[in-house]
Amino acid sequence: MKELSKTYDHKRVEDKIYALWEKSGFFNPDNLPRNHKKPFTILMPPPNASNPLHAGNAVMIALEDIIIRYHRMKGEKTLWLPGEDHAGFETQVVYEKKLEKEGRARFQMTRQQFYEEVWRYTQENRAVVRNQIKKLGASCDWSRDTFTLDPAIVKTVYGTFKRMFDEGLIYRGERLVNYCTKHRTAFSELEIKHEERKDPLYYMKYGPITLATVRPETKFGDTAIAVHPKDKRYLQYIGKELEVETVLGKKKIKVIADESVDPEFGTGAVKVTPAHDFNDFETWQRHKQEIPGPIRVIAQDGKLTQVAGPYAGMKVLEARQKVAEDMQIKGLMEKIDQNYTHTVALCYKCNSVIEPMLMAQWFVRVEPLTKAATEAVKRKKIAIIPKNQEKIFSHWMKNIRDWNISRQNWWGIAIPAWQCNECFSWVTTEGKEPTQCSKCNSSNLTKDPDVFDTWFSSGQWPFATLGFPNGKDFKTFYPTSVLETGWDILFFWVARMIMLGLYCTGKVPFETVYLHGLVRDKDRQKMSKSKGNVVDPLGITEQYGTDALRMALTIGNMPGKDTILSEEKIRGYRNFVNKVWNVARFLLLNAQDYDRKTIPRLTTQDRKIQKEFSLVAKKTTSYIEKFRFSHAAETLYHYLWHTFADKILEESKAILQNPKRKTARQYVLLSIFKDIIKMLHPFIPFVTEEIYQQLPLKNKKETLMIEKWPV
Ligand SMILES: [Zn+2]
Ligand SMILES: [Zn+2]
Repeated sequence: MKELSKTYDHKRVEDKIYALWEKSGFFNPDNLPRNHKKPFTILMPPPNASNPLHAGNAVMIALEDIIIRYHRMKGEKTLWLPGEDHAGFETQVVYEKKLEKEGRARFQMTRQQFYEEVWRYTQENRAVVRNQIKKLGASCDWSRDTFTLDPAIVKTVYGTFKRMFDEGLIYRGERLVNYCTKHRTAFSELEIKHEERKDPLYYMKYGPITLATVRPETKFGDTAIAVHPKDKRYLQYIGKELEVETVLGKKKIKVIADESVDPEFGTGAVKVTPAHDFNDFETWQRHKQEIPGPIRVIAQDGKLTQVAGPYAGMKVLEARQKVAEDMQIKGLMEKIDQNYTHTVALCYKCNSVIEPMLMAQWFVRVEPLTKAATEAVKRKKIAIIPKNQEKIFSHWMKNIRDWNISRQNWWGIAIPAWQCNECFSWVTTEGKEPTQCSKCNSSNLTKDPDVFDTWFSSGQWPFATLGFPNGKDFKTFYPTSVLETGWDILFFWVARMIMLGLYCTGKVPFETVYLHGLVRDKDRQKMSKSKGNVVDPLGITEQYGTDALRMALTIGNMPGKDTILSEEKIRGYRNFVNKVWNVARFLLLNAQDYDRKTIPRLTTQDRKIQKEFSLVAKKTTSYIEKFRFSHAAETLYHYLWHTFADKILEESKAILQNPKRKTARQYVLLSIFKDIIKMLHPFIPFVTEEIYQQLPLKNKKETLMIEKWPV
């Protein structure tokens, strides 16, 4: 007689089952039985190839595998395409830390040397990440696995850049960018964080006018004094040029009137420093005819430039103190308010204060793109779950500035642009090095040293991975069905995919966006290494099994909200997995002799049990269709444990001893349990497959993965 082992041993089962699935070939939609016709596609958001998976990646894999396995069992031609992200700046930071530990530094290496080392490093890590994804039970198609630096991806990205440049959607602009002087790169406005700080507010004298500033060290770049046009205190000076005393001697400076000046701030007069302040840059744009343009005071290494005279070479904070001191000595400082609170922008990686830096960069003119994207969401071509994120999305779309896609990194996709050294115009290509300037035919060209912002390339992921524009996969699987990711990257990534997808293909890249909750610890704290509260998903699966982890990641995870993961929770679902196993064991012991070819005569009681279950099955299915995975999993959990095991099996013990009722009851129990196993499969794939393989069922398929969904 066949018998299941006393306890479920995930360590013995999981690798064996995953190998069985891989061998079946059904992860690849091309190998599915022919009746799987309707395409269903999810592109896995590629995890970083520079780090092992974290709990956030595990949530994504658990939820996407639920969706994919469900649709596969519904008979669809299901593609889940995996990938790994080169993660430009993120990886560069990780690798630089590694170099630091080894007593080395990026700036001591050649760029090529650095690139080759990071390439090897990410390839090694890719293998680790892939194995971890497998450990989590992901039924994705490894034959289509893609790296974000694969030649086909880079080719698509270059094609898009060229087309956008030719159509005037990408332009070269000298603008202020958010710059980290430690990492020596620019950031988009999304990549900086803000913090309230208390800093001294300096009241500096410019001749007869006193003005307030937190940055006296940038005064060498002042090109005007601005006041509000209706401010009576300063009317007499507007339009006049003052000759004023400064720490570097006499200087001429003009007073201008601008509506943007707040008469309530400080003294109502402010300095205009277009090279180092976003507002001042805009003020200068409005007064270009009247005042000089930007004067660089701070260089990209964070030190003062030659225009600062004796202060040149000093770092910002040092210079600030020294300039303030010297002004006090010369009687140019009226007072210093030590309790001024304001918001400063910081690098999200290293907390350095962001310097607005004047740099020539590539910008995407976003307005035409955001218009189309907003329209697509408004017209319900794309649904965002939870729905309240749609409003946030539209609001953000209305307010973004042109997108700076240049990054001064070494690790990333090089920008295919060359500047002519004779006429200074730009030549862009689809990657090939040009031989001459398209304007003046000079062959004296210099390549742009910058790389793309990674979101520019990952924004093209949905069509680049599928072989846009002529590939078979692109024709079959695009637009994709669901984009599943954390709500925190709605703007970074999802918005860019919608914008670039619509621009390049004329179609939305996906029909539904599902934004899962972010993982927090049991005290609702964000997980971080420094807090020591990180739950390592792979460590947990070793101990409790993947199925238990997947249940813990699914139950309680509501779209757009944060979710809790703790060891206790995972242990709880390990008990559930054992419960499923024990039920299977009981049935195998008590129904093994069932061999009827036709349906036996059922009692009223038997039929009532069937009816009850069919309601549970319908409810569960409807939850999955509505992306309410937590509810679906909980419904099955409670039915299996509290109804099927606690009530029905208990009651059946006597019935199974009764020769008149035994066969009918065996039939009911087996058929319901078979359906439960199918419906639990997307949530806890390993234990259900192992049970399926062992149960004495008629017309079994090669694997549970391609069984038909019961509803
Ligand atoms: Zn930084
Ligand atoms: Zn030229």
